[in-house]
Amino acid sequence: MLLGFKTELKVNNTQRVLLAKHAGVARHAWNWGLSLTKKILDNNQENPNNKLKFPSAIDLHKWLIALVKPECPWYYEVSKCAPQYALRHLKRAWDDCFKKVKKAPRFKKKGKSDSFTLDGSITVERNQIKVPRIGWLKTYERLPQGIKPKSVTISKRANKWFISFKLEITPRDNATPKNKAIAVDLGLLRFATLSTGEEVSSPRPYKQLEKKLAKLQWRNRRQVIGSSNWKKTQRKIAKLHYRISCIRSDFLHKFTTHLAQNHSRIVIEDLNISGLIKNGKLSKAIADSGFYEFRRQLTYKTELYGSKLIIAERFFASSKLCPKCGHKKDKLPLSVRVYQCENNNCDWIADRDYSASLNLLGLAEPEVMPVEMKTPKSIDEAGTNKQIMSNIV
Ligand SMILES: [Zn+2]
Repeated sequence: MLLGFKTELKVNNTQRVLLAKHAGVARHAWNWGLSLTKKILDNNQENPNNKLKFPSAIDLHKWLIALVKPECPWYYEVSKCAPQYALRHLKRAWDDCFKKVKKAPRFKKKGKSDSFTLDGSITVERNQIKVPRIGWLKTYERLPQGIKPKSVTISKRANKWFISFKLEITPRDNATPKNKAIAVDLGLLRFATLSTGEEVSSPRPYKQLEKKLAKLQWRNRRQVIGSSNWKKTQRKIAKLHYRISCIRSDFLHKFTTHLAQNHSRIVIEDLNISGLIKNGKLSKAIADSGFYEFRRQLTYKTELYGSKLIIAERFFASSKLCPKCGHKKDKLPLSVRVYQCENNNCDWIADRDYSASLNLLGLAEPEVMPVEMKTPKSIDEAGTNKQIMSNIV
């Protein structure tokens, strides 16, 4: 199985210049090759009796080395892969055009879809990747481990650089402990409630830092804009923002990796985020809580580890249904934290989010619904969270 992976690079100024040079050479080679091949096609149309052979990518590269490189010294500043792959991509573009799959290739303009491809010795570590000629490049997100991509493509979009590569994945054996489904109910009070009864809160330092951040922001608003104290507070705020984002990202990565590695099927809600955002009070909490990021990570990690992500339909009433008898409440305000079934023949009473997660679990496969229902849980945030965080790698 081949999985595509793309992530943003954290580049310094020297690297930015080097990446731009590579993209520039790739673009130059593409445009040169395109102009040459166009001339060949024009000639063949005008002189049907004296057709020229349409060049292969290797022909093009040979000609480039002989004709272009000596005149363009900047080619020597970058990896030879950059022009080579540009010509390969050009050849592929023409092939697609001849097969009438795509339109004819076009000339590239600077700053518009800048990209280049490199191959050779590529090393991947936790938060960085080493590529030929350029060296170590840092990433914001932790990279998949134990992999060796054959080639990488580096591209620029909206002033940001991205790296992408293909991973050859052997889906892991789902047989043993993995072969169980889990459902995750995302919430605002605690980050997630699992159908196993475990509760996952955002990391504790996160909350403390948030308080500190709010204090600094409050102070900053009262300082004279542009004064040295104001600047000092600004710097402190930026630093704190960064620390908070690191903690959150680390937490999300651990949590999503844990889920994807240990469960064959994972059910989550399709959060109606736009609906929730209309509720002004909730919008900040949602924006901060990383729901989008959670889903994005889970999407690629379930592919990576060979498990399956199931997303409940947007209007699935996960929190209004009784997981034991299926009774549906008309209403359950967010302030009500305990689900108590209204059906007289049913004694279900449990934490609201836990109940919702059991309903979600039912979507994984009806027969995995637990036969024996767990005893109602108290709404205690501290205890079980420790348990799961210590299970996480
Ligand atoms: Zn019930």
